[in-house]
Amino acid sequence: MQQFPFGVVIHGGAGDLARYSTTNRLSEAEVFLSQLVDSLYTSLDQGASALDVVTQAATALEDSGLFHAGKGSSPTSAGYVELDASIMEGNTLRAGSVAAVREVRNPILAARHVMESTNHVLMVGAEADALARNAGLETVDTSWFSPCDVSAGAWQVPDNSSTGTVGAVALDVKGNLCAATSTGGTLYKRAGRVGDSPIIGAGTYARNTVAAVSCTGVGEYFIRESAAYQVCSRVQLLGENILAASGYVMSQIDKLGGSGGMIAIDSRGAFAMPYSTTGMYRAARNSVGNRIVACL
Ligand code: ASP
Repeated sequence: MQQFPFGVVIHGGAGDLARYSTTNRLSEAEVFLSQLVDSLYTSLDQGASALDVVTQAATALEDSGLFHAGKGSSPTSAGYVELDASIMEGNTLRAGSVAAVREVRNPILAARHVMESTNHVLMVGAEADALARNAGLETVDTSWFSPCDVSAGAWQVPDNSSTGTVGAVALDVKGNLCAATSTGGTLYKRAGRVGDSPIIGAGTYARNTVAAVSCTGVGEYFIRESAAYQVCSRVQLLGENILAASGYVMSQIDKLGGSGGMIAIDSRGAFAMPYSTTGMYRAARNSVGNRIVACL
């Protein structure tokens, strides 16, 4: 009999996914997300830590090339990628992030390295790449990236639209909550621009006994609402459930004129996946028998 609840939620970004409904892109993504969420669930069931599971999730999503993060990232207006990522563990409130990295293959591993091996939370640019390289993390050159949005032509429009980012939140059998987020940023973003994904409290937050949250969307609005932290605060201080808290924060982002989505899980394994775009790549599974895989 299951004694402690556990669960995992993953996303591959929110955006105008309805425009892909006549292609096989959504079904391809669903197959990938479905297999990934089941393997992450099995890892948790076998006792893996939430920290390892969100790391494993974000790394797989980055490497898939299916989403606008890691391999699938589109270039900035300057013609090269600039990637952001962050990770947070809810039992210690330790956190690590990198912003505007261009060489490290898996920005989420660089973020975890910042968290575990430095006294810092956020490292940026060439120094963050150097830190990752010196730690032995794999680096790649420009030719390795294969922008997932080029075929749609979308990346050529500097419209601050969002269609990417990957993330994961997990609750392990010990009650630890963790969150991870990784992105290539908004499409064709201005070089040097940094969104919410590497900002602890905006794109990512986790606190044990409360919740873990990972966001996606036009990051400027998520920063202004301290979105991920705000969800956790509403659960912790107002006693709202995860659906109400995440729904409220999304409505505030909507009022500002922003759009996107988020995934969140609480300390009982209940999860929420609200979004205000036409779709969000998402999958979730918990130990009380809930399992969802969807795009639209
Ligand atoms: N939130 C990301 C950013 O603003 C983009 C996205 O999720 O699509 O950089």
